[in-house]
Amino acid sequence: MAATNPKRIGVIGAGMVGVCAASYLQRDGHTVFLVDAGTPGEGASFGNAGAFNASSVTPVAMPGIVKQVPGWLADPLGPLSLRWSYLPAILPYLYRFVRAGTVEKVHAQARALRPLVGATLSALQPLVKEAGAENLVHQRGHLYVYRSTESLARDGLAWALRRENGVEVDEFDADELRQLEPALSRDYVRGLLVRENGHTSNPFGLVTALVEHFVRQGGAVIRAKALGFRLDGGRLTAIRTDAGELAADGAVVAAGAWSKPLAAALGDKVPLETERGYHLMIRDPEVMPTIPTADGDGKFVATPMDTGLRFAGTVELAGLDAAPDWRRARILLEQGRKMLPGLAAHPPEERLSLWMGHRPSTPDSLPVLGPSRATPDVIYAFGHGHVGMTSAPMTGRVVADLVAGRQPAIDISPFAASRF
Ligand SMILES: Cc1cc2nc3c(=O)[nH]c(=O)nc-3n(C[C@H](O)[C@H](O)[C@H](O)COP(=O)(O)OP(=O)(O)OC[C@H]3O[C@@H](n4cnc5c(N)ncnc54)[C@H](O)[C@@H]3O)c2cc1C
Repeated sequence: MAATNPKRIGVIGAGMVGVCAASYLQRDGHTVFLVDAGTPGEGASFGNAGAFNASSVTPVAMPGIVKQVPGWLADPLGPLSLRWSYLPAILPYLYRFVRAGTVEKVHAQARALRPLVGATLSALQPLVKEAGAENLVHQRGHLYVYRSTESLARDGLAWALRRENGVEVDEFDADELRQLEPALSRDYVRGLLVRENGHTSNPFGLVTALVEHFVRQGGAVIRAKALGFRLDGGRLTAIRTDAGELAADGAVVAAGAWSKPLAAALGDKVPLETERGYHLMIRDPEVMPTIPTADGDGKFVATPMDTGLRFAGTVELAGLDAAPDWRRARILLEQGRKMLPGLAAHPPEERLSLWMGHRPSTPDSLPVLGPSRATPDVIYAFGHGHVGMTSAPMTGRVVADLVAGRQPAIDISPFAASRF
């Protein structure tokens, strides 16, 4: 249903979240422009693992995670690293993070996330169809593999949360796993396949295709850094940028890990952090899985992409400004070879590409989605952490519903900025 009251709306941030919001707003008949400080799609949405995992209801802060942290930090190949100089800055976040990880809270977080992530492919489909980008989105499921029944048991709560929220899982023993994905190491003894999950074989290509379609439909992309907002009597009149003011009667904050100062400008103090992640890609790999595959112990994903095999994952806590530590990306090659032993030990450098990006993370792994404190004209849509690709399409729909004054299809009260 088109909005009865067309507005002029600026969407700040042209990553997957921003472009999904802009597309859904445009479909409602609003005049929409995207504002990005850089090239659309070159934030976190560029180099992620590409998974559209409807089953991703498990928060990062799980009960017992604190006990695992020292072991992870001590292991140079481990999934977590911390720049010690950044510790004082991130301590308040970590405090909230630990407090969010109680059994009771993670059940509530999973329940809140399921409607947002569960509808990922159905909410993405119309956008992808209109943009002519259907070739970039696939539904082959997502495979989680474990080296021992003990390590699978350690993930027991995560699997319980998924199942409680209606996720169907097919289990495979070692022999069945071999038939499903012959390239996988024989060390894996268990595999769990979630068939409802999908992936994109080119995250940047997908964002670009959606932006191009948005422009063909009359949308504009403005290269500028948003600095704040001009309000008049509690109503938005313009977005302030480093290139001057952009007149608007609606705005969406979808600036990913950089959204914190924009929310602060409207009186909302949000504990947003960056969980930096890395990828390593191998062009023309010797072997490649057909299904995106997550290593249960190493916490990384191997995704078959159009341009090669991508290993993505790991978390580094070091803030927005520190230079990348490319050793974190190279670790993924070592890890990846343990998953797919048919890969060459030393592929030539020209076949490799490395990337670092900023997950926009909150302590309770829930996004910030809903109106700002200062004005209903500015809607927040950021903080999607590890599942921003997955949650972007439904987030876009919710944003359009809020702007149109329609009741959103899902309960967004757990995502309010005021919860902090
Ligand atoms: C290694 C890794 C693997 C991942 N794998 C997956 C996965 O498989 N599935 C999944 O669902 N998620 C995954 N994620 C998470 C996902 O990538 C992010 O949650 C998602 O891309 C966030 O999208 P976004 O649009 O909010 O932010 P971004 O893509 O970062 O876009 C934000 C945009 O805002 C712009 N911007 C910032 N500040 C301003 C400003 N002041 N003014 C104007 N523009 C501004 C930036 O230039 C940028 O283009 C992964 C992340 C990483 C790092």
